[in-house]
Amino acid sequence: MKKLFLFSFLILCLVHGAFAASCNHSFITDGYIKEADCENFGLRRLKCQICGEMKNEVIRALGHLWDSGTVTKNETCTENGIKTFKCTRCGKIKIEAIPSGHKWETKGGNYTALICSVCGSRKTGYGAKGPVGGYIFYDCDADNTSGNKDRLRSVECGWRYLEAAPEDLPETYAWGDDGSFGTKTGIGEGRNNTNIIVNNASNKRKDNAAMACVMYAGGGYSDWFLPSLDELNLMYENLKEKGVGNFHQDAWYWSGSENSNNNAWYQNFGNGRQNNNNRNNNNYVRPVRDFRLACELSLSFMIWEGSFV
Ligand SMILES: [Zn+2]
Ligand SMILES: [Zn+2]
Ligand SMILES: [Zn+2]
Repeated sequence: MKKLFLFSFLILCLVHGAFAASCNHSFITDGYIKEADCENFGLRRLKCQICGEMKNEVIRALGHLWDSGTVTKNETCTENGIKTFKCTRCGKIKIEAIPSGHKWETKGGNYTALICSVCGSRKTGYGAKGPVGGYIFYDCDADNTSGNKDRLRSVECGWRYLEAAPEDLPETYAWGDDGSFGTKTGIGEGRNNTNIIVNNASNKRKDNAAMACVMYAGGGYSDWFLPSLDELNLMYENLKEKGVGNFHQDAWYWSGSENSNNNAWYQNFGNGRQNNNNRNNNNYVRPVRDFRLACELSLSFMIWEGSFV
C-alpha cells in the first residue's frame, strides 16, 4: 500500500512536470506589488491562466507628462527669463531658462548696423557690401570701447564706416622711402599716413603702396588710402577671419604705419601676426576708404540702404 502510494505520487509528479513544461503560458496580472510612477519603477505579479505559474515583472518608470509651460519671467536684453513646466501626472515643477538677448532688426538693411527693437543697442554686421562695392569692416559709431555710447561717435571720428576695396591691388608694392615721417598706427590715421607717405616720396619711390592706393579708382571713387596698422588689423579680424573679402591666403599686407627709419608694419593674413618689414620689400596692398552718409551730418538717423552678404 505504501509502495503504491509512493508510485502514484511519482507518476503524478512526472505528469504534472511534463504538463508544466509544455504549457504555453498565458500570464495575466494578478496584482501589483508596487505601482510605477513618473520617476520610479513598479513591480507586478503575473499568474498563468493555464498552469497557475507565478512570476514578477518590472514596470518601467512612466516619465513625466510636462505641460506646454508658462513664461514665469520674461527675458530681457541682458537677463535670462524663466519658463515653468508642470507634470500633469505628479505635479512636479521644472524650470528652463529663456536665453537673454537683443532683438536685432535690420530696418531696410543699412550698410552695417543692426538695431535692438527693445533697448536700441546697435551692433555691426561686418562684411556687408559698402556703397562702392567693397566690404564694410568697421563702424566707428558701433565701437563702444571708448566715448559715450549714447552719442554718434562718428561725429568725433569725422567719418563713420571703413570700407575695404573688393580685391587686392593686382601687383605687390614696396612701402616707400626711408626716413622718419611721423605716420601713426591708430584707427583713423590711415588717410593722413597715406598723405604723409605720398608727400614724402622721392622720385625713385613714386611707385609705392600708399601711392598705389591714391591712384586706385575702384567703384569710380578716388578717395582710397593705405590702412594704418590698427585699421589693417580690423580688416583682418572683421573680414578675413570671417571668410569675407577675397584676401590672399597667408599673404603679408602693408600697413601705412612706419616702425623704424627703414622698416614699416605689415600683417600676415594667414594667422594675423603683425611684424615689421624692410620698406624695399614688395607686399600685398588692400586700399580702404572711410565714409559717412549724408544725413548723419545732421545727426538725424542714417539712410538705410545696401545689403548684407
Ligand atoms: Zn502555464
Ligand atoms: Zn510626473
Ligand atoms: Zn536690446
